[in-house]
Amino acid sequence: MQPRVQVLQGDITTLDVDVIVNAANPSLLGGGGVDGAIHRAAGPALLEACKQVRQQQGECPPGHAVITTAGNLRAKAVIHTVGPVWRGGDEHEARLLEDAYRNSLQLAEANGYTTIAFPAISTGVYGYPKAAAAEIAVNTITDYLTRHHHLQQIYFVCYDDETTHLYQRLLTQLGDEP
Ligand code: ADP
Repeated sequence: MQPRVQVLQGDITTLDVDVIVNAANPSLLGGGGVDGAIHRAAGPALLEACKQVRQQQGECPPGHAVITTAGNLRAKAVIHTVGPVWRGGDEHEARLLEDAYRNSLQLAEANGYTTIAFPAISTGVYGYPKAAAAEIAVNTITDYLTRHHHLQQIYFVCYDDETTHLYQRLLTQLGDEP
């Protein structure tokens, strides 16, 4: 059986999954990094969808997630979640990063989706230390999967070698556990 959690390296916008998760900012109106790449690949329909959510709900606070259509992407939906900005670790960053992953999983599941791809939320411009963020991502998701069985496949999509190796090591360690 294929593992339910897999690491891939590359551009998240190219994946053929139900849901791509975007590391958005609270405005939901696009930005740099993976957010910019997702909006470029999805086209203007995604920005329009984000503007509508923004009008209805206002800004998206750190740890929260919203869902939109996916424009020209192969995915069926985009979940926009806002990770914490790293401020040294005493500003609830770990809890907020956990919330971002968990709320994205819940939203995907609530909408009936079964395959989902995550970028390494908060580890770019938001400055979260990569190793600590990878541990939170892996632990939050594996913990969620032990209690929820609807999601079939989760991909961690890593952009750089360092992040890829961190995730591979963490998942191998989990696989080695008795
Ligand atoms: P944040 O503001 O949450 O830190 P960033 O977009 O700056 O978000 O970075 C989050 C992570 O996404 C970083 O590890 C960055 O290398 C990675 N990234 C950037 N572009 C892509 C992409 N096209 N596909 C997957 N990951 C990407």
